[in-house]
Amino acid sequence: MITTYHRPQTLDEALTLLTQPNTVPLGGGTLLSQPTTDSVQAVDLQSLGLDSLTKKGNDLEIGATCTLQSLLENENCPESLKAAIKLEAPINVRNAATIAGTLVASNGRSPFATALLAMDAKIEKAISANSKIEYQTSNIGEFLPLRPTNLITKIILPLNTKSAFEFVSRTPADKPIICAALTQWSSGRTRLTLGGYGKSPILAMDGTEAEGIESAARNAYHEANDEWASAEYRMDVAAVLAKRCIEAI
Ligand SMILES: Cc1cc2nc3c(=O)[nH]c(=O)nc-3n(C[C@H](O)[C@H](O)[C@H](O)COP(=O)(O)OP(=O)(O)OC[C@H]3O[C@@H](n4cnc5c(N)ncnc54)[C@H](O)[C@@H]3O)c2cc1C
Repeated sequence: MITTYHRPQTLDEALTLLTQPNTVPLGGGTLLSQPTTDSVQAVDLQSLGLDSLTKKGNDLEIGATCTLQSLLENENCPESLKAAIKLEAPINVRNAATIAGTLVASNGRSPFATALLAMDAKIEKAISANSKIEYQTSNIGEFLPLRPTNLITKIILPLNTKSAFEFVSRTPADKPIICAALTQWSSGRTRLTLGGYGKSPILAMDGTEAEGIESAARNAYHEANDEWASAEYRMDVAAVLAKRCIEAI
């Protein structure tokens, strides 16, 4: 439950507020505004100007408070990521939910986080140090297991890649039981990630070429057993989806 609401006008002010105990950033508020027994102070990020979407060279820089829908509608958003965003949440939630809030709240079933992990997205965080703002950038692969509580300011995606996203779900609009995202760089570097299970999507392969991708997909989900599907099923489907991703690019 949100007990105190702040709307800072500068990043500096926001970072100072966030040093207080039980104080968290508020993105779209679609999750934070849900009833819970925990009391938190919310620092609304909407006046900080963190909602820009800019193509810089071969990168797409996405401000933390961009909504999922504005990213989906952006001409530079890769088609594979658009497919993942459509599955992440229905349009009413996409219009409010921010990219940073979605990533922080994501679990292994998140198509959005699975696609970003395949793209080896970079996460920029702002930290207040000695009365100055410092920015730190980490790979999404380092961010997801630890979920540090720092304020995310930006997510950066490479655009000079080919990418694909494939999934299986109970209905075409449900969150996937299993999904696969693939990114390939011109150097041949190929990253395959799997989602649909567990606390975070996982990296199944990051190699210099695509050889062995089906067995990498199969091996990565050998323990992916839950109420939605058996590990045996997920291993078979992961291999099929990995093959489809390669064919798609
Ligand atoms: C009715 C409903 C129920 C939902 N239930 C769940 C659920 O139970 N579990 C779930 O995972 N998703 C749930 N969702 C999905 C949730 O909407 C998404 O995770 C959403 O995309 C969160 O984005 P947001 O911008 O609204 O985040 P917010 O609700 O604003 O914040 C979500 C989390 O991200 C943090 N955060 C936000 N912005 C930043 C930032 N810039 N830097 C660092 N941290 C930040 C917040 O402090 C908070 O911990 C639900 C959605 C709806 C509409």
